[in-house]
Amino acid sequence: MTANALPPEEDLSAIEISDPASAAAGIGGVLASFRHALTEMGVRRSLKTLTSINQKDGYDCQSCAWPDPDGERHFAEFCENGAKATAWEATTRRATPELFARYSVAELAAMSDHQLGELGRLTHPMLLRPGATHYEPVAWDDAFAIIGAELNALVSPNEAIFYTSGRTSNEAAFLYQLFVRQFGTNNLPDCSNMCHESSGTALMETIGVGKGTVTLEDFEQAQAIFIAGQNPGTNHPRMLSTLQRAKRNGATIVGINPLAETGLKRFKQPQEVLGLLGRGTEIADFLLRVRVGTDVALFQGIGKALIERDARGEKTLDCDFIAGSTDGFDAYARALTRVPWEMLVAASGVPQEDMRRAADVFARSERTITCWGMGLTQHVNAVANIQEIVNLHLLRGQIGKPGAGLCPVRGHSNVQGDRTVGIWERPRPEFLDRLGAVFDFTPPRDHGVDTVGAIRAMHAGAAKVFFALGGNFLQATPDTEYVATALRRCRLTAHVSIKPNRAHLVTGERALILPCLGRSERDVQVGRQQFVTTENSMTIVQASRGVLEPASAHLLSEPAIVARLARTTLGSRSGVAWEELAGDYDRIRDAIERVIPSFERYNERVRAPGGFHLPNPARERRFLTATGKARFTVHALPAFRLTPGQLLLTTVRAHDQFNTTIYAPSDRYRGVHGGRRVIFLHPDDMRERDLAAETAVDITSHHGGEERHARNFRVVPYDVPRGCAAAYFPEANVLVPHDHVAAGSNTPASKAIVITVRRATATVRS
Ligand code: SF4
Repeated sequence: MTANALPPEEDLSAIEISDPASAAAGIGGVLASFRHALTEMGVRRSLKTLTSINQKDGYDCQSCAWPDPDGERHFAEFCENGAKATAWEATTRRATPELFARYSVAELAAMSDHQLGELGRLTHPMLLRPGATHYEPVAWDDAFAIIGAELNALVSPNEAIFYTSGRTSNEAAFLYQLFVRQFGTNNLPDCSNMCHESSGTALMETIGVGKGTVTLEDFEQAQAIFIAGQNPGTNHPRMLSTLQRAKRNGATIVGINPLAETGLKRFKQPQEVLGLLGRGTEIADFLLRVRVGTDVALFQGIGKALIERDARGEKTLDCDFIAGSTDGFDAYARALTRVPWEMLVAASGVPQEDMRRAADVFARSERTITCWGMGLTQHVNAVANIQEIVNLHLLRGQIGKPGAGLCPVRGHSNVQGDRTVGIWERPRPEFLDRLGAVFDFTPPRDHGVDTVGAIRAMHAGAAKVFFALGGNFLQATPDTEYVATALRRCRLTAHVSIKPNRAHLVTGERALILPCLGRSERDVQVGRQQFVTTENSMTIVQASRGVLEPASAHLLSEPAIVARLARTTLGSRSGVAWEELAGDYDRIRDAIERVIPSFERYNERVRAPGGFHLPNPARERRFLTATGKARFTVHALPAFRLTPGQLLLTTVRAHDQFNTTIYAPSDRYRGVHGGRRVIFLHPDDMRERDLAAETAVDITSHHGGEERHARNFRVVPYDVPRGCAAAYFPEANVLVPHDHVAAGSNTPASKAIVITVRRATATVRS
C-alpha cells in the first residue's frame, strides 16, 4: 500500500479562531516556552538545556540563524522558538524499533506532521525492504553496505542526489561534500536552493558577495531599518530584541509586507518586567501593505521619489558614492523617471504618499539597514526584488559603513555555513582546485543539480539514489505529489534524521533512516568530546558543544555517518583518512583551513568565546564584481494576468512551526488554534465569492494550463490586501508547481501562486 504523501486532512470544526495577537512575546511567549520545555524534557533537562543554548560555552540553537551578541549574554539567551526547538530535539520520547513494528508505513503516514514528530527521537537505524509494510532495525554496517552497493551500482555518479539541510554543521558538511565529489558528482542540492538562493544570486551580481553586509552592532547605530517580506516575530524572534534596542536608540522602522504581522506591531520583551507587564514597544513606525509579489513596484516608487527630490536640489542622493563606487546609475534613473507613478501604485497597491513617506525615511537617514526574508526570495522575480533593495542602498551610499547595509535574514541555523564550506551544486573552479590539491584527487567540474533539478531528475528516472543529510525533503519542497512520485521512482532513499518525518514514509524501492546526534547532545569520538561549528546570518563562525547524553547509544554523529559511508562506498578509491577526520573534528577544521582561505587559524579562532567573523569585502566597500564597482540594475514591473475570481496566494509559517517542524497545530499570533488547514482571505474577497467565515473551501492553483488541488481548508477573514490570500506551508505546497521558479536562482516560487477557491462539499458549521 502506497503511503499518502500529503498531510492528512483535519477536522475543521476543531479549529478555533480568535483575534490576532496585538503584541509578540510577553507572558504568552514565556508560558509557551516553559510549557513545551517541561512537557518534552521535564524540569532538570529543561534547566540543563535552556541554560546552555546560545551560550559561548554551550550549543548553537538548532532553529534560525539570527546571531548571538558578541559581548555579555543573558542567562536565558533564547526565544520562545529556540525553547521549542530544543524541547523538540531533547524530548524524552523515543521512536524505537518496537514503535516501527507497531505502526506500518501507511499508518504512520495517516498521522499529522506534528504527531509524527511527537513519536520522539529515533534510536536505531531502520530499513524498509522492497515491498515491506514496516521498517525494521538494521545494523549500521549493513546500512552503509546497502547505500554503498546502490551507489556503486549506478551507471554514473550523477544518478545520485546528495541533499543537505541547514542544520548540518560545518564539519559534517565539509566531509560530506568531499565524499560526494570523490564519488564523482556535484549533485549537492541544499535547503538554500529553496530560501536565500535568490539573495545570493542578487547580491553576488551587484555587490560581489552573496551574503549580508551588517552585524548586530550596525543595528545599534542604524537610524532607519526597513524589514521587507519577513516575519521576525515568528521566524527570527530574537531579532525583536535587536529592533527594540534600535528603536530606543532612535531608529525609524518601516515594515513592508502583505500581512500586518504581530511581531512588527508591538514587542513585549520577556527579559524586562515592564516588557512582560506593560504595553511593550511599538516596533514598526508604519507598515507598507504591498500586494503579494509586487515589491519591485514599491521599491521603484521609493527610488523614484528619492531621484525626483534630488533633481529638485534636496540632495537626497549620495552623488560621490554613486560616481566613485557604482555602475549603471544613469540607466536606473532613466528607467525610474519614465515609469509613471500610476503604474507603480496600481502594481503595488501602495498609495503614492506612502511610498514618498518611506522615501523620506530613507532620505533623512544616514545609516540605513534593510532586512528581508522569504517574502522576497520565493518569487518568480525574487532576484529583482532584492536588487531593487540594493539600488536604494546604492542611491544613498548605505552600504559598507557603520550602521548601514543589507541583511538577508537566513532561516536555518547553519544554512549559510554549509554553503561556505562547499555544499553547492555549482562550485567555483578555485574551490575545486584547492579541494583536489589538498586531497589529491580530480573533483568533477560539471555543475550538479539544485533542489528543483534534483526533483526533476528523480521524476524522470535520471537519478536513482536520494540521500539526505537532515531535513524533510518531501515537506520542504513544492509540488508535493510530483516530489512524492520522484522519490518513489528511486531505487533507494536514505535520510539522516533525529525524528520521524513524512519524508521517511514516501520512499524509493528501499529506504533507510539513519539516526544521528542532535546538536544539544554530547558528541564523543575516540574518548574525547568534540564540538562542531556553525556560521550565522552575519558571517560569525562559532563553536557549538552539546550538553546532554545522546538519546540512544546507537546514534552516530553526522561526521561519523559521512565518514563511514565514504569508507564503505569509496574503499581504496579514496586516500582520505576518513576515520581519523571523524575521530577528531579539529582535523576536519584543519582541512577546511587548507581548502578555504578565510578560515586561517580556524581551530584557534573558533575557540575564542563567541567565535570569529568571516571577511566580507562589501562591508569595506570593496565590490568584487567584474568592474570592481557595485551595480545598479533595471527591472521590469511585475505583471500578473489574473482572470476574474483568481487570487494570489502566499505561503506562510505559523508561530508554532519552524520550517517543516510543527510544534503544535496552532498560530496564536494570527489567532488560529487547533488546526492548520486555513486560508486567510480579505472580507471583501469573501463576500464577492459568497463565502462566510468558517466555510470549508477547496483551493485550486493554475499554472501553465495545469491545475493542482488542496482540499478542505477553512476560510478565515483576515487583514490581507484585496486579491491576496495566505495559507500555511507545507499544507499548501501541493499547489506550488515545481516549474514555478525564480528567474536567475531557480528557487521554487512559493509566493504569488495564482489560485481560485470554491466551496467544498462540506461546511464546517452552519
Ligand atoms: S532567535 Fe532563532 S536562533 Fe535565536 S533562540 Fe530564537 S529560534 Fe533560536
